[in-house]
Amino acid sequence: MTAEATAPGATRRYDVLVVGAGFAGMYLIRKLRDELGLDVRVFERGDGVGGTWFWNRYPGARCDVESLFYSYSFDADLQRDWQWSERYPAQPEILAYAEHVADRFDLRPSIEFGTAVTAAEFDELENTWTVTTDTGDRASAPYLITAVGCLSAWQIPSFEGIESFAGEVHHTGDWPKEGVDFTGRRVAVIGTGSSGIQSIPVIARQAAHLTVFQRTAHYSIPARNRPLTEVEQRDTKAEYDVLRDLARQSRAGLVTDAALGAALETDPLVARTELERRWWRGGAGLTGIFTDTILSTEANEVVAEFVRGKVRSLVRDPRTAALLEPRDYPIGTKRLVIDSDYYATFNLPHVDLVSVRDTPIERISPRGVVVDGHEYECDAIVFATGFDAMTGSLNRIAIRGTGGQLLRDKWAAGPQSYLGLGVSGFPNMFMVTGPGSPSVLSNMIVSIEQHVDWIADYLGHLQRAGIVRTEASPEAERDWVEHVNDLAAGTLLPTAASWYMGANIPGKPRVYMPYCGGVGTYRDKCAQVAGDGYAGFVHHRARRGSGSTVENDGAVPASA
Ligand code: NAP
Repeated sequence: MTAEATAPGATRRYDVLVVGAGFAGMYLIRKLRDELGLDVRVFERGDGVGGTWFWNRYPGARCDVESLFYSYSFDADLQRDWQWSERYPAQPEILAYAEHVADRFDLRPSIEFGTAVTAAEFDELENTWTVTTDTGDRASAPYLITAVGCLSAWQIPSFEGIESFAGEVHHTGDWPKEGVDFTGRRVAVIGTGSSGIQSIPVIARQAAHLTVFQRTAHYSIPARNRPLTEVEQRDTKAEYDVLRDLARQSRAGLVTDAALGAALETDPLVARTELERRWWRGGAGLTGIFTDTILSTEANEVVAEFVRGKVRSLVRDPRTAALLEPRDYPIGTKRLVIDSDYYATFNLPHVDLVSVRDTPIERISPRGVVVDGHEYECDAIVFATGFDAMTGSLNRIAIRGTGGQLLRDKWAAGPQSYLGLGVSGFPNMFMVTGPGSPSVLSNMIVSIEQHVDWIADYLGHLQRAGIVRTEASPEAERDWVEHVNDLAAGTLLPTAASWYMGANIPGKPRVYMPYCGGVGTYRDKCAQVAGDGYAGFVHHRARRGSGSTVENDGAVPASA
């Protein structure tokens, strides 16, 4: 639609600018370029597609959503043709899938790889966004869509002496493409969230010695990963239409077993049998066993104590087992981890666990990690210390809306958005899986597809209606933020010092960032907003014969 400017140094013009070529950015191309015919430019800081799965190549990296459902549903042929090899897909297979999708739909020509967006600015007269990249290039378009991922800004705590370490340092979220060989080496892993728990058993198989530094013991459930059979694949694919629909209407974007009922009203024998059944089947179903696991401390304790019992039976040394028993937060209020052989790894003679809960890491020395005056010598340190989640990847871009306001300033006390899609003061900008939407509490691909479909419908509507500028109203945003906070406050979720709360980043405001009301409910809300003429968004139409705009008096009918 829009002609590209070709003069060197000139600002190139498109219809839509997208930041990020993970699963969200890729589907945006398919939807906006191939269905709406828009000229879409995607900027991607990596030199390949896949987002999270491009960067997180650490040993043992695997998705905690089953492969047959951690996949796009938008194309019937794609979902029929692609064969998954395992129940839970490993990172190389997910990346191969992303690359296949990029090739199959010819997405790469719309992507500029190795190009990070450093700034984005809205021009109030022209109603356009202009982005600046780290190569100094500039591009502009009426719309900006951020598809930056929720867990992309990896972080290493500022330990004293870290630069003095003489060995190798890696972060799980920025793992070298060529891999790391730990054979015969002494390795330290700091952090026992999903990334630490997945990588520790695999690193232990290679390393001469492994020391794990644990601040908080996390709840981890066996994945029981295994090869998928032909029959499973065939039968699931035959039912995909129904199953995908159920996932879209579910709480977490997954087809799961129904809950038994409230924990304390369930016969203890029935409860125990079901806990065992789900434990032995593996995967994340454990916390969904009761309707009140996340609502009541007593109910939560039934599931939490069950897991602690499993830890005691799996770990032979009672002192180590006691350290690994999670006690610092209710189960399910931090991300439940799905592992392969995690607890049993601590039975190996060359694996040690050091608790830094009460005596934090003092410093990093040239030879290792120092805790309580003791130097744990190592040749390599793996930081599995997580991310500045949900807002970090947006805040590191200087995004300026109306009046020159920076998004990171607006969000200084915590993220504010309408539906996790739009932000007041940032017209014509949409976020895919932004804070205030279910995102990280859900199967990300289900949430990504819902957001991209919604945004595409909206852009089509704006074009048809001759609306040149749209923006979440401050009132709609305030009400949504309040609703998101109220929902979380009615649960145990804000009680954990989790990354959902921003608690892992010193100085970050403590706000429960995702919407916890469930994927199905959220989807209905978004559909209702669209059906009501995009209620909560303020629209401006182009004035005939001039580039300026006038504000309408509220919603424009969706059929306009
Ligand atoms: P994370 O869950 O934030 O875990 C970071 C770990 O580092 C925690 O154990 C944390 O301890 C520890 N840590 C942070 N600062 C520390 C310090 N100064 N001293 C000692 N320990 C410190 O990060 P992650 O494991 O990378 O996982 C992040 C999210 O990514 C997951 O929750 C999940 O949503 C996603 N993920 C998914 C998969 C999957 O699909 N299987 C795999 C990996 C990641 P505290 O707990 O005490 O803060």
